[in-house]
Amino acid sequence: MSNAPKKVAIVTGASRGIGAAITERLAGDGFAVVLNYAGSAAEAEALAGKIVQAGGRTITAQADVSDAAAVARIFDAAESAFGGVDVLVNNAGVMRLAAIADADDAAFDSQIAVNLKGTFNTLREAARRLRNGGRIVNLSSSQSGILSPTYGIYAATKAAVEALTHVLAKELRGRNITVNAVAPGPTATKLFLDGKSRELVDRLAKLAPLERLGQPEDIAAAVAFLAGPDGRWINGQVLRANGGII
Ligand code: NDP
Repeated sequence: MSNAPKKVAIVTGASRGIGAAITERLAGDGFAVVLNYAGSAAEAEALAGKIVQAGGRTITAQADVSDAAAVARIFDAAESAFGGVDVLVNNAGVMRLAAIADADDAAFDSQIAVNLKGTFNTLREAARRLRNGGRIVNLSSSQSGILSPTYGIYAATKAAVEALTHVLAKELRGRNITVNAVAPGPTATKLFLDGKSRELVDRLAKLAPLERLGQPEDIAAAVAFLAGPDGRWINGQVLRANGGII
């Protein structure tokens, strides 16, 4: 295809927050981007319209990442629209905080389904279908190191994401594909802000030596580095992007 873009990226959970910022950043960097979402169709279509307006190339792809067949369809859509896939950004995630003593089965099951099984589903598909020379970036969390009370299940899913990152980097030997994770600290999105008082948000914002919350664009910059030419020699690493909180 003569007008095929040079590189094609899939971003999961791209309808808002960090995933939306990553999508805009990669589109601005010249990637054709497949913008995945689960339920927020209006937000996803609005973001896609904004990217096209700015001269970028994108399509939306609805899929619950916890459903393996639906994940295969994201890759199908990318291949038929843009000819292949070079970059996977595994960003879709959910957070349900509760002390282990109080956590219900639904909190456990939903976080395992989206954060762990969802990441596994996309990694398996990418391992089979990414073009040589590609890049994979998984979203972990600095909570895999901070390990605060009430974050037990969430941190466990992100520790598992980091384990998958290290193993897949080794398994893709010979294909010139890097696999890394970015582990944000507190970042101003719905996932972080929902259910927290203003006082708590202010206190958490001051924990990092840089004394502010991360913005989605701060995380997108770290992902763009790993997905772009300057990240070529970084492989099997977890990059904590958190203002120095840990
Ligand atoms: P948001 O809640 O703001 O956005 C989450 C995105 O994921 C939405 O676009 C949502 O789309 C999508 N999503 C949720 N479930 C699914 C699913 N089953 N399949 C496909 N998409 C889904 O979260 P953030 O932007 O804050 O978080 C992005 C990532 O960064 C997550 O992995 C999170 O764990 C990680 N992170 C965030 C931190 C923070 O402080 N914000 C800190 C550390 C890590 P829809 O509405 O369509 O379902």
